[in-house]
Amino acid sequence: MPATPPLRAWAHDAIARIEADFQRSADTHLIPLPLPAFSSRGIDLYLKDESTHPTGSLKHRLARSLFLYALCNGWVREGSTIVESSSGSTAVSEAYFARLLGLPFIAVMPRSTSPEKIAQIEFYGGRCHLVDSATQVYAEARALASQSGGHYMDQFTYAERATDWRGNNNIAESMFSQMARERHPVPRWIVVGAGTGGTSATIGRFVRYQRHATQLCVAEPQGSVFSAYHAGGDATLTGPGSRIEGIGRPRVEPSFIRELVDRMIDVPDAESIAAMRALSALLGRRVGPSTGTNLVGMLTLATQMREAGQSGSLLSLLCDSGERYLPTYHSGDWVERTFGDCAGATRRVAALLA
Ligand SMILES: *Cc1c(COP(=O)(O)O)cnc(C)c1O
Repeated sequence: MPATPPLRAWAHDAIARIEADFQRSADTHLIPLPLPAFSSRGIDLYLKDESTHPTGSLKHRLARSLFLYALCNGWVREGSTIVESSSGSTAVSEAYFARLLGLPFIAVMPRSTSPEKIAQIEFYGGRCHLVDSATQVYAEARALASQSGGHYMDQFTYAERATDWRGNNNIAESMFSQMARERHPVPRWIVVGAGTGGTSATIGRFVRYQRHATQLCVAEPQGSVFSAYHAGGDATLTGPGSRIEGIGRPRVEPSFIRELVDRMIDVPDAESIAAMRALSALLGRRVGPSTGTNLVGMLTLATQMREAGQSGSLLSLLCDSGERYLPTYHSGDWVERTFGDCAGATRRVAALLA
């Protein structure tokens, strides 16, 4: 066997460490939602619980993929500073992998990012560089990486291509295999939110590759540009950005692949909050706000299926746990200050669930 070129020895070891970490990990659960108003009509709803990853969200998958992609591209070397623009969850997961590889890590995030996420990034030895608005994170991260001679991970560009869409343990393959013994094993709908757009791209490509009839719906928060981009195709659109952490963007992200999304459902912020609360009560544990947005999307589709006399299954994601948002989305005062009165939305969500 030829000897490993010296420059590559560190990368080989780094990849081996990530693979060993993966080998030690378990898959996330698929939870059936106890909703008799739908199940009695042949409609089953499920959430894949991505909060149980070691770093608490679906971004654990993305961070692993981005590190492997960067290593296999030769973009990251021993001692490289890793820089990322993030709304928080990706940075938490990347800080974990940077620590695993002994690399310095800097997260560039909006000042509004929850203190729990900042604390977690620092817990893993990362540094947080806060900017005033979500639109500033990209240029700032790029500049920091070039100043430090490091690598800008750029999740918003690379999320869609860093994950193997054909399978190889991606989230879509896992969902379909976990559905194998259900009464409707091939879902009629999969509903996700879009932050990078990476998760929707992976699922959209996988269902096409496997030639499933499953349709993909993206649930979209207020202030995001993905809905208008999906409708009209203008990639230069900008907007104020979303107030639901993790999803919705102020610009059209390169990883959001419009052609793969069959339907967009716009969800008012107050309904996302109301659904987050209703689901937390239903499951007996707190979920994050983007999971509330997902639930509104699912309930909208499930209600339409029921009205049309269709049966089938719908899948979505429990993206992260509500423990990350105790002083914010799970604080009544903070919610009222930020979103105003949610009573009307609470009644609408209750009606959807009834
Ligand atoms: C990133 C994120 C999403 C959306 O996932 P993408 O694959 O980036 O589109 C949803 N919820 C939370 C909490 C997230 O952090």
